[in-house]
Amino acid sequence: MNIKEIFHKRNLVFSFEVFPPKNNSPVKSIYRALNELSDLKPDFISVTYGAGGSLINNKTTEISSLIKNVYNIEPLAHLTCISSKKDDIDKITERLELEDVSNILALRGDDNGDSRKDFNYASELISYIEKKKRFNIISACYPEGHIENKSIDMEIDNMKRKIDSGTSSFISQLFFDNNIYYDFLDKINKNGIKTPIQAGIMPVINKRQIERITELCGAKIPHKFSKIMNKYEYSPEALKEAGIAYAVEQIIDLASSGAQGIHLYTMNNPYVAKRIKENIKTVIKTINN
Ligand code: FAD
Repeated sequence: MNIKEIFHKRNLVFSFEVFPPKNNSPVKSIYRALNELSDLKPDFISVTYGAGGSLINNKTTEISSLIKNVYNIEPLAHLTCISSKKDDIDKITERLELEDVSNILALRGDDNGDSRKDFNYASELISYIEKKKRFNIISACYPEGHIENKSIDMEIDNMKRKIDSGTSSFISQLFFDNNIYYDFLDKINKNGIKTPIQAGIMPVINKRQIERITELCGAKIPHKFSKIMNKYEYSPEALKEAGIAYAVEQIIDLASSGAQGIHLYTMNNPYVAKRIKENIKTVIKTINN
């Protein structure tokens, strides 16, 4: 069942994101995390994609294949296009099809000034993959606007382009203030967009992580959250506890307000994912009954 079909079956879709092991670490260094995450029975697991490495034998494809063929969970392979030629995309999609991976999160990736490109924007990659008629395509959206362009109106125009090109659902950039997300959904509704959107939630368990993230994506930090960060900055266990509780509260509020999905950025940390799932499993079950 691909992710589009999962959205038809569930009122609330719950999924995880993992990233491939960094540098020269072998794929097997993620096995333990995958074992534990798969025990939590998410609806799907997405695998991020980084530039570099062999295009065809990239770790994203290998891990997505493991998720599908060993853990029997639907995988979502991320794919960026900013420095790719059509031929590169053909090779990767052929390999994904061989491995029975049918969901792709089609992204532009961060602009690195590489001139060797066939694609300028994610919508162009989406159209290109859609023509193959073999994949369910998902895209990114930005409740606070994209870092290069904070206009929500332009973000909504871009979402429409992505839908017209073949996107079946969206996963949002992480955010820490649910009210910003609700305002975003309001604008989306007013624009007649009916495509399902999953809220991206990142449990923050150390202060350096949050500083890096906000620098990268520009997510606003609500006062309530910065108080927690400042208070427990030097008490890692207390900060972890509070970060998990904050994410749980965000998720329960979103679920109770009719969110169609939650995508948890696990940072390959099954302990944190497990603690969160324990706290929300009855809520998810009730909504999906
Ligand atoms: P686009 O939709 O192409 O948008 C990029 C910018 O261009 C935006 O400012 C948009 O407004 C503008 N734009 C788009 N179309 C046009 C147009 N026709 N004319 C003018 N302006 C236009 N990065 C990775 O490298 N690997 C990953 O695995 C990864 N996973 C991610 C998962 C999620 C859920 C999210 C939210 C982001 C992820 N990213 C990942 C980061 C992503 O690659 C960056 O945010 C990137 O800068 C934008 O990607 P996009 O697909 O949204 O781009």
